[in-house]
Amino acid sequence: MATNIVGRDNLAFLIPRLNLDLAKTLLFYYVLATWTIKAKRHLAARGLVTSFKEVYASIAKRVVQLALKLPSAKKSVDEQMSKAKLDIEDKLVPKGPNVVRHLALPEESRSLEWILAEMDKMDKEFEHASDWKGGKVSGAVYHGGDDLEKIIVAAYERYCVSNPLHPEVFPTVRKMEAEIVAMTLKMYNHPDGAGAMTSGGTESIIMAIKTYRDWARAVKNITEPEMIIPTTAHAAFDKGASYLGIKVHTLPVDSYTRRVDVKRVRRAINSNTIMIVGSAINFPDGNQDDIPALGQLASKYNVGLHVDCCLGSFIVPFLEPAGLADGQKGHYKLLPFDFRVKGVTSISCDTHKYGFAPKGTSVIMYRDAELRKYQYYLHPTWSGGVYASPSISGSRPGALLAGTWAVMQHMGSKGYLESCRNIVGSARQIAEGIRSSIPELHIVGDPPASVIAFGSSHPDVDIMEVGDVMSKRGWHLNALLDPKAVHIACTTLTVQAVDQFLADLKDAVREAKIAPSGKGTMVALYGLGRSSVVGPAFVGELATAFLDALYKA
Ligand SMILES: *Cc1c(COP(=O)(O)O)cnc(C)c1O
Repeated sequence: MATNIVGRDNLAFLIPRLNLDLAKTLLFYYVLATWTIKAKRHLAARGLVTSFKEVYASIAKRVVQLALKLPSAKKSVDEQMSKAKLDIEDKLVPKGPNVVRHLALPEESRSLEWILAEMDKMDKEFEHASDWKGGKVSGAVYHGGDDLEKIIVAAYERYCVSNPLHPEVFPTVRKMEAEIVAMTLKMYNHPDGAGAMTSGGTESIIMAIKTYRDWARAVKNITEPEMIIPTTAHAAFDKGASYLGIKVHTLPVDSYTRRVDVKRVRRAINSNTIMIVGSAINFPDGNQDDIPALGQLASKYNVGLHVDCCLGSFIVPFLEPAGLADGQKGHYKLLPFDFRVKGVTSISCDTHKYGFAPKGTSVIMYRDAELRKYQYYLHPTWSGGVYASPSISGSRPGALLAGTWAVMQHMGSKGYLESCRNIVGSARQIAEGIRSSIPELHIVGDPPASVIAFGSSHPDVDIMEVGDVMSKRGWHLNALLDPKAVHIACTTLTVQAVDQFLADLKDAVREAKIAPSGKGTMVALYGLGRSSVVGPAFVGELATAFLDALYKA
């Protein structure tokens, strides 16, 4: 009897123990298996060398961060950072006894005359602001001419207070938005598609990522979403992924064509992939990815393919009708990029770039309305009533939509065709000029449209230095990394300035070669970012200081 009881006790004691051990073991193997699968996918996507470099870089960063905390290092770092921060502020925030700051509401109402006069004064507080009207600014201002400005203002005035969140109150604004989307879909050869307007390219891209995330969760049961982008994809993709919790694999582009390595994309696709990305054209060097090849992958693996035409906007679709798609002299050929390519499931197009519409407008298009549903946000049980909105914003400026609609009506396809010819003509003139008369430089890739990037082929010419000299001559160009280059995004304003640009560029190359200073802003920022060991640790801090300075009243 007694032994029996003891035996039963032992057994009773053992069962939960056994279960616990078993559970522990199972859990261990589960975690191990999950991590192995994850590591395998990571390696497949990024390759052994890149993965190794990533680990090395993250360890190096940690070591540097620790080293910088040592009292001796900290003091000198703090001093240098304070100085750099002050420099940034000096460049952005006007100072001095004549600068009036408006830090609280005025007690009494100010008249329109006062307001305009005050704006005049503030405009003069910054003498060294770049003069964009002379055509010396790369991108930034997509100006369609004085006529267009009048039209935008008239449309804006008329729909000044409208808000498309309330279509029953502002029916015309709703109609105009639907028509802008329809016209853009037609331009991208897919009148049966679906789309929406957003506040800009970044929001269009974030919405596409959200759409694929929710589509993949619903249709493919993906809970740990990943996306694949080329190194040349716009930072908005990383931003969106960071907001929405998506893992990003950034893959290299071919050093000659500047197109993403399609074999690498195929290897990187796994069962967690929600989308792949191609640009037409990309921001850094104005080249396009091989969209037909990416389309084949997207169809085969049933993942989304987003084509970023934010910059290509109203230029790239007009290359074919303008007779420019086949290029010239064996250069600048355009590959298919729109919805006619099988596998393309969404495209972003910025009306506020080469569409010449007011800033704050872009169109996101989908293959069909079914896919667009995943972009929506719905809250059917909200205490404020059923809430449904298509994109990130709630209330939206109807005035901007009216301005966009008006601009598209005024330009018409003839107008855009002509602006495409002028702008792309200038870009190609610049590229040809560099090819034929500046042997120290080379064109990056073979850009089909409006952006031309150039790097140095000469050991004594630092392209950042060339960019600096150009800055001194009033040009506002963009510095690129990996590989080092400078780009100009041609606009209507550049057309008049092509000869001047080429002449200045020739001089700048000569100057950089004879008397390299190695000290200009482009060089300094670049050097801080890459060549010094401690650089990367500071770039983030400096960038933060830059953003802080924006809000310095
Ligand atoms: C400008 C641009 C974007 C982002 O657009 P924003 O309107 O600045 O938000 C995205 N992709 C490319 C290629 C761009 O040039």
